[in-house]
Amino acid sequence: MIRRLSRIAAVTFAAVAAATAFAYPDKPVSVVVPFAAGGPTDVVARSLAQALGTQLKGSFVVENVGGAGGTIGAGKVARAAGDGYTLLFHHIGMSTAPSLYRKLDFKPTEDLIPIGAVVDVPMTLIAKPQMAQANLKDVLAYVRANKDKINLANAGIGSASHLCGLLLQNALKTDVTTVPFQGTGPAMTALLGGQVDLMCDQSTNTTGQIKGGKVKAYAVTSKGKLANFPELPTLASELPGFEVGVWHILYAPKGTPADVIKKLEAGLQAAIKDPGFASKMKDLGAEIMPADKQTSAGAKAHLQAEIAKWSPIIQAAKAYAD
Ligand code: ASP
Repeated sequence: MIRRLSRIAAVTFAAVAAATAFAYPDKPVSVVVPFAAGGPTDVVARSLAQALGTQLKGSFVVENVGGAGGTIGAGKVARAAGDGYTLLFHHIGMSTAPSLYRKLDFKPTEDLIPIGAVVDVPMTLIAKPQMAQANLKDVLAYVRANKDKINLANAGIGSASHLCGLLLQNALKTDVTTVPFQGTGPAMTALLGGQVDLMCDQSTNTTGQIKGGKVKAYAVTSKGKLANFPELPTLASELPGFEVGVWHILYAPKGTPADVIKKLEAGLQAAIKDPGFASKMKDLGAEIMPADKQTSAGAKAHLQAEIAKWSPIIQAAKAYAD
């Protein structure tokens, strides 16, 4: 009798657990973007949130928590309840922050669970419209010779724009003034207004401005030239080996139940195939990550490999923040 009762209890428990997972999401899910609204991470996140909502029949709402190169928003999610209702959409900065920040208040590989990698986005080197230099060679020579006149906008230490600027200054053996913003959305406004001179930013923020002739564009940070900007050389053509790709991963806080992660993983893979999302990413020059990285295990391996790749480069650059 007792054995029969405990079997019934176990079956009932399993049914309730399955029903709970099936019901997810039954209230709005917050997708934290650790940068200001209107920037490239935000643009991808909003499009993804819409596709996730369609696939998982729920509401995914982007929340912008900018500051400190993405570490404030990422830390907030790392400490959030692992219930599936707070997620983080972050980029390559997750792999550089552990080397850049001596006192990071969360552990990227322990406090967050990757759900899947989404897109890899090239950066572009752009300048205020008044910048006189006609091409990449000239602008690099100008930066080298005028370190006190130039300033470089970024989204704070740990951001992709910071990383690109760091590699650029190292390659040019110079040290220019950097101006941090909460994201490159507001940095773009300052660039368009001529308040800052130069910026590296993802094509997801710069495609419209470049094609509309609103900014000066000098180069792409991909290994090869890009179909979207056939006129732009690679930075590597002047600075051999220069390459930055801004990959993005969706995360949940540690403690999120495995069945919720599974549901999110499947929903993410379907959302990436959503025609609206896919065509928007193509138009903005973003490349969809390979299918094996659109999984929790694949994204985790990618994150770990990137931490190992950037750590010695950042240590050699001696770029730290407290
Ligand atoms: N593009 C930014 C970066 O430099 C962040 C953003 O605003 O999306 O990391």
